[in-house]
This record gives sequence, structure tokens and C-alpha cells, in this order.
Amino acid sequence: MSTIDFSQKINSTSTRRRVAIIGAGLVGSLSAIYFAKRGWDVLLFELRKDLRVPESTPSYLHRSINLALSARGISALRIAGSNLIDVVLSQATPMKGRMIHTGEGKLHSQLYGTFGECTYSVDRAKLLMLLLDNAEEFKNVKIYFEHRLKRCDFDAGVLDVENINEGTSSKIEADLVVGADGTYSTVRTQLMRVVRMNYQQEFISHAYCELRIPPKRNEKGEFEFAMDPHHLHIWPRHTFMLIALPNLDKSFTCTLFMPYEQFDAIKTEGDLIAFFQLYYQDALPLIGEQNIKKDYFLNPKGSLISIKCSPYHYKDRVVIIGDAAHSMVPFFGQGMNCGFQDVEILYEILEQHNINPEKPQINNINTDNTKEMKFRKDLERALDTYTQFRHIDVTAICDLAIAKEIRGMVALAVPESHNSAVHYGKLFHYAVFGSSAEMETTKFLGECGRRIDHFGYFCDVGVGIAVWQL
Ligand SMILES: Cc1cc2nc3c(=O)[nH]c(=O)nc-3n(C[C@H](O)[C@H](O)[C@H](O)COP(=O)(O)OP(=O)(O)OC[C@H]3O[C@@H](n4cnc5c(N)ncnc54)[C@H](O)[C@@H]3O)c2cc1C
Repeated sequence: MSTIDFSQKINSTSTRRRVAIIGAGLVGSLSAIYFAKRGWDVLLFELRKDLRVPESTPSYLHRSINLALSARGISALRIAGSNLIDVVLSQATPMKGRMIHTGEGKLHSQLYGTFGECTYSVDRAKLLMLLLDNAEEFKNVKIYFEHRLKRCDFDAGVLDVENINEGTSSKIEADLVVGADGTYSTVRTQLMRVVRMNYQQEFISHAYCELRIPPKRNEKGEFEFAMDPHHLHIWPRHTFMLIALPNLDKSFTCTLFMPYEQFDAIKTEGDLIAFFQLYYQDALPLIGEQNIKKDYFLNPKGSLISIKCSPYHYKDRVVIIGDAAHSMVPFFGQGMNCGFQDVEILYEILEQHNINPEKPQINNINTDNTKEMKFRKDLERALDTYTQFRHIDVTAICDLAIAKEIRGMVALAVPESHNSAVHYGKLFHYAVFGSSAEMETTKFLGECGRRIDHFGYFCDVGVGIAVWQL
């Protein structure tokens, strides 16, 4: 057993309380900034290498290369720092609506709203680097890459963390543990051992594969976008769909969502090209036959999972946020956005409960004990409030996202689909552009419950509207 050296930035005699954040993904890194700004000593543990070290980049790109950032995420980034949101938006591409590509090669633009509403295409790796840089600017933050949380003794406030390179373990003490360690969270698993957690997990029948539309050259020989960059492009087809989001280098990242059996049925380059010629005739020349042959067979086929659980906390000791608390299928593009919003709401609730990270001065042992007890009680109440408040909204969005599974797009093309499309259009708007939509979303979810039962499945609201409009 070895000990981690805290001497560089944070020492054990600090007068501030310590939060140990597990997982330096998007949500964990943002929460490090929030806690640091409010004066906590922050230890951030990440099992992977530092993304900013060039050779480690590919391991982070196991998931979508770019993401749609929307109202919930923007609000949380803005509160983290006006400079931060300015930099993020300066590196993002605004998407003011969907561009539907029909089977006949026609294009239909559907604006997200009449007030200029848009979502922003952001580069996952760049955003994460920015958050990590920002977190490291605080003197009270220390990030440990290649450190894996193994287990937790929450009652004792002790974590067992392994240094992956050295194969050694350390005991880490913390006043609070924040689990931001993603879909397959170790913190959540440890939490399940001490609370009666309700837990629900569902894999959907679709997988996804990423492809790329490279920039094209114009008459002057300069690179430009091969399609309109200010739309999220969607090719809705039967039980599958292709989408494309713009990148700063003028390329698009495409994601093909399709049932596993259909992926399995494409065995050869010939099968692949025939499939694209049949369903995505206009996309094929944009991607390029050589590129698609390479990317399709090389790139992983990722599974899509939905996880809901409750409660998110145990006493005053630990809370889980982001995908660790709620993984959602990506058809609303809300996973990261909701994770960012978790951070904003958690911190708001801590402030409402006057959770002060300053430790009491050691003067009188009795007074200190009373103060410590009060701190612990207040923190427990705050975490309990967080679970109660957050669970409603997050569950509603997880349910909406999974209900929007693709297979129902055919069902939506029946005459009834006009109403459905309008209805789901409203849902989409609440989920994507609402900043705290728990009431509205739950209300609308209740209203659409009958339709979900009726159709079994239905698809992306955008796709629904698209099919209806064709
Ligand atoms: C195809 C696809 C498209 C998506 N598109 C969008 C979109 O457009 N908009 C959107 O908002 N969301 C989108 N999402 C969802 C989004 O990717 C996730 O919600 C987001 O990445 C969650 O961030 P996180 O920090 O909670 O978890 P993660 O990003 O998974 O980070 C968790 C971190 O914890 C680390 N970790 C795990 N276990 C341990 C351990 N034991 N010890 C230490 N560290 C550990 C991991 O290495 C990782 O770095 C999409 C997802 C997919 C799959």
C-alpha cells in the first residue's frame, strides 16, 4: 500500500474540506471546476491517460466524436465561468435546425424554433481538454490520471485507489465522494451495497457506427463543408437512420444507427456499397467509397444503453452524477447536457443548504463536534434534496429518449402521425431547449404515454416530423 503525494498542491493539513471526484470525463471535470470555485480541495481521479498527452487521444474517442450542446449544458458551463462558455461557443458550430434527406434525395430544412433556437456541435475531445485545463488552473485541484477507484468505505470516508502504472493502491480520505465515472460506474456499484437502490438497465436493439464526410474543395481549391453546416443532417429510413454533425475542420461526423442484425448482415464491401446505394444514395459520394469501406469495417459498433436508478446518494458521503446516475440513449442528444445540469443543480442545492467547505477552527473539542455534526446533517439533507429533485427530470428525459427509438418511424408515417409529430415536436423542444423541464416534460410524457403503448416504438421527433412532411 503506498500513499499519494498531495504535497504539490493540496496537503492534508488544509483548512478546507476535501471532495474526491471519480472520473475526469466531461461531467467529472466540470464538477471539479464548480467545487474548486467554491473553495473545496478537489482530488480528481481518472483511470485513463491524460487526453492532452498526444498518444492517449484515441482511447477517448471510443464514443461520439462530436456532441450537440444545448440549453441545459450551456447554462451549466456559463455558471462555471463566462470565459469558459465563450471559448466553448467560439469553437462550436451552431445548428439552427434539422436537414432531412429523403429517399429521393430531396432536402427539407426544419428550423428548431422561430426565435433562433439552436444547438451547437462541439468536439468531444476539445471540450474535455478545455475543462481539464480550466480545472487545473485552480490551486485547490489535483488530477490523478491512470488512477482507478477500486472500492469505497463510505462510512469511514475512505477510498481505495489504484495507481495503474505502478500497480500500487492508496487509501484516500474525503469528506464527500462524487461519482462521475460513467455508465459502468464503480461508485454506483459500491453505492448499491449500502443503499436500497432501485436500478433499471436496458440495451436497445440498435448499435451505432461513426463515419466521416470529409471537406470538399471549392473552385479556388479551398476546403469547404460538403453540406450546409448549420443543420443537423438526418437521413431517416425504416428502422435505421444516419445523422451528421459539422466539425470545425469542415468535415462532418456521421453516425449510422441500425439494429445489430442489420450491421451483421453487411459482411463485405460489396454489401456495404449496395446498402448505401439503396438507402443513402446522396450520402455515399459525400463520404466517398474508399472512406466508407475503411471506416465502416474499422470503426467499432457501439451499443446503446439506458440506465435509471435511485437514490443517487448515501447519507452525507457520496453522490453520483452524469452517466453514472443516468445513461440515456442519444436520440435527444441530452446525456452530456443533463450531466452538466446535474453539476449546476447539485451545487445550487449545496449552496441553499449553506454547505461551507471551510473546516471549523480547532478551539474547543465540543464546539467542533457540534459544528461537524451540523455540517454532516446539512450535507445529508442537501444530497437527499438533490436525489428527490433531480430524479423526476432525469427519469423523464431517459424515458423520452428511449421511447424515441428509431423503429417507430414507420408507424409514424401512418395518417395519425401528424398529431404525433406535433406532439413530439413539443416534447423535443422541452427536452432540448428547456433548462429545467421537469414539470413540463413529465406532464408531456404522461400525455403521450398512451401513444407510446399504441405504437410500441417511435422515433426521433425530427424524424417523425420529417416522415410526416414527406
Ligand atoms: C453515439 C453517442 C452520441 C451522443 N451524443 C450526445 C449529444 O449529442 N449530446 C449530449 O449531451 N450527449 C450525447 N451523448 C451522451 C454523452 O456522451 C454522455 O452522456 C457523456 O459523455 C457522459 O459524461 P460523463 O462524464 O458522465 O461520463 P463519461 O464520459 O463516460 O466519463 C466517465 C469517466 O470516468 C472514468 N472512470 C470510469 N471508471 C473509473 C474508475 N473506477 N476510476 C476512475 N475513473 C473511472 C472513465 O475513464 C471516464 O473518463 C452521446 C452518447 C453516444 C454514445
